[in-house]
Amino acid sequence: MIALQKGAVDMKLRYPHFYKDFQCIAEDCSDNCCRQGWLIPIDDAHVEYYENYPDPLGARIRETMKKIDGQWYLAPKDGVCPLLEEGGLCPLVRASGEEALCHICHSHPRFLEEYGLTREIHVSLSCPEMARLALEGTDAITYEEEMTDEPLSSPNDIDPQEYFALLEIREFCLRLVQHRELNIYDRMALLLQFARRVQPLLDEGEYALCKPLIHLFTYAPQGRRQLLATKRARKKGCSYFAERELLSSLEHLAEDWENLLKATIFTARDGAKLDENCPYVLEHLLTLWLGHYIPKAVCDGRVDTKIRFAVLMVMAVRRLCLCHGEENLAFAEKMAGCLAREVEHSQDNMEKVYRTLSSPLWHEHLMMGLPLK
Ligand code: SF4
Repeated sequence: MIALQKGAVDMKLRYPHFYKDFQCIAEDCSDNCCRQGWLIPIDDAHVEYYENYPDPLGARIRETMKKIDGQWYLAPKDGVCPLLEEGGLCPLVRASGEEALCHICHSHPRFLEEYGLTREIHVSLSCPEMARLALEGTDAITYEEEMTDEPLSSPNDIDPQEYFALLEIREFCLRLVQHRELNIYDRMALLLQFARRVQPLLDEGEYALCKPLIHLFTYAPQGRRQLLATKRARKKGCSYFAERELLSSLEHLAEDWENLLKATIFTARDGAKLDENCPYVLEHLLTLWLGHYIPKAVCDGRVDTKIRFAVLMVMAVRRLCLCHGEENLAFAEKMAGCLAREVEHSQDNMEKVYRTLSSPLWHEHLMMGLPLK
């Protein structure tokens, strides 16, 4: 096991290629994150900072702080952060710079994940500007790396063998997802098939056998055989949207979410306009969700649930677009944002989704939902 201490230097940063182009558009934002009604946990260092922040702004901050079960939060009022000023600006940033923000506000719309001496930056599509940057391009999303002397935020222990196997798995999954000679549904079918085959290897600690399995899926004749097997299952296909029940059963964070989901009850699974209007959006979404979550399997040992999660989220975006008659990029960005907000921003919801997806039945549900093109 690697045990790393806070303050270690020369860390590697890894982030999607568009990440550095992001700039908050504040007053022009259609879905300002300070208006989401989020209860924001404040880290200890910032609790102390805010307690001593000079008035009059200090008094406003302290009025906004609320202690629940021993944890301090910035609490919204009528769904809005009480500090928010006209023009969508934060007075704390204006007065003292970004460092004055607590960790959650400072990192949004990014998710920071640390594995040994690597910090990965992933993006939250709940921010419309980040979603626009992430999903509008036609080139495949790539990841960039650089070294930094920023300190680790906390020590972390990971099993290096498992972690490196997961990196190999992720690299393969992203290559597969970006293999544009196959249609996107075939790519997802192969991903699901791969997830089912690779999980037992991780369960048994047979990390060295991941490479031959990847080779099996990469080598053309074998890959074709795997694909054929998925087509037999997909022929049974059904228009029942199993994902809707799961998504409906989660704790809802936004008022309009249930209504958006309701529209997905009756519509058939097939439709081609989204693929024609924005042929890369599903690929980009898969890349981002797989890129973020596959390495997190180092925490619970379940890479199959992470791959199923990415397919579920992508197919939910597609279904929402189809059922609302809005098969276009702008609506896909909006639906990806709603899903990110409802699922990824709630630890309880994420845990429930992973628990549910650990059933092998979900392999079948998801496979049958993939159209044959
Ligand atoms: S959602 Fe994104 S663009 Fe909008 S205010 Fe928040 S960080 Fe800025």
